[in-house]
Amino acid sequence: MVPVVYHPDYLSYNFGPAHPFSPLRLEMLWTLLEALGYAPDPLRPPMATRADVLRVHTEAYVAHVEATSRGEPLPDAEAFGLDTPDVPIFLGMDPAARTLVGGTLHAARLIASGQALSVLQLGGGFHHAHPSRASGFCIYNDLSIAIRALTDAGLRVAYIDIDVHHGDGVQAIHYDEDSVLTLSLHESGHYLFPGTGFIDEIGEGRGQGFSLNVPLQPFTDDQSYLETFERVLPHALVMFRPDVLVVQCGADAHFQDPLGDLLLTTHAYEHIFRRLKALAAEHTGGRALFTLGGGYDFDATVRVWTLLYLILQDLPLPDRLPIDWRIDWEQRLGCSLTPTLHDAALPLSVSSARRQQIAQQNVQTAQRLMDRISYYWY
Ligand SMILES: [Zn+2]
Repeated sequence: MVPVVYHPDYLSYNFGPAHPFSPLRLEMLWTLLEALGYAPDPLRPPMATRADVLRVHTEAYVAHVEATSRGEPLPDAEAFGLDTPDVPIFLGMDPAARTLVGGTLHAARLIASGQALSVLQLGGGFHHAHPSRASGFCIYNDLSIAIRALTDAGLRVAYIDIDVHHGDGVQAIHYDEDSVLTLSLHESGHYLFPGTGFIDEIGEGRGQGFSLNVPLQPFTDDQSYLETFERVLPHALVMFRPDVLVVQCGADAHFQDPLGDLLLTTHAYEHIFRRLKALAAEHTGGRALFTLGGGYDFDATVRVWTLLYLILQDLPLPDRLPIDWRIDWEQRLGCSLTPTLHDAALPLSVSSARRQQIAQQNVQTAQRLMDRISYYWY
């Protein structure tokens, strides 16, 4: 079994009922795994310490988060990305964020010490947090703090980000490092937050050639996504020879997601998760840390992360979801839920000419990226 890291206090990371980053997603996921008879027996991580957070974040920023968290917001909070529509302030936000960092860091330490090969952190994935700035629902960058623990142990880390948004915070933090490769596949920053992640962002200094971005066209479908993924990811892993993968498994590239415009179905996610597992087996001896991430349609996000869990644990994929679980959550959410694990509905239809055009643009993007980056590799 792949160890699972989780703490009930993850649910305290809560910006309020109107905010898309809802802790209900985790509660739904957990209750679904229980209803399926596959409830994890999780490892309870310790909360990350202030010193852990300072491995990545600045003293001034952490002091601002702490003051805000105690209900003493400082006048220049917005300069630190706090008290904004994306990152509203709430009492206890510092311990809530540190609890989630603790989970990803605990997973990294299990891998670094050889106690586990592969670990699933059922939370985290705060890829937009910068050293001195909160952004995009992210306060502390659990991913980079965990990556630091892995590189401290002498491991080369390939960070793979399949969230629909560019993993800008993780990229920025490791931009000049040659022991961390960052690879983000996302909807192009021309159309979507945070507006970065273009192919010319390739790293700097010793890090040149170790930052890869695949900006995809809006309405990219399963086939084009998977084709682009295969044109870049396996080659990057052959070149970089990582010791461990760190994977941010955002579910917001799903076609039902209200924030992004990609059209992935659960079938694409099943394929991606199986491929990531196989690529870890091939390139890192199976060493991999998986986190969650974005995902703002309850129905789709919970099914995507259930797929992730079942695939990592080599469990069979059920066709239908337990009816009692579904009725209970339909009543709680006031909306209908898909009765099956895989999608029952189809993404919006795009004309075949437009699909071809999108696929061609994505192939060209991947090709231009590989042409540009291979200069640094060979
Ligand atoms: Zn996202």
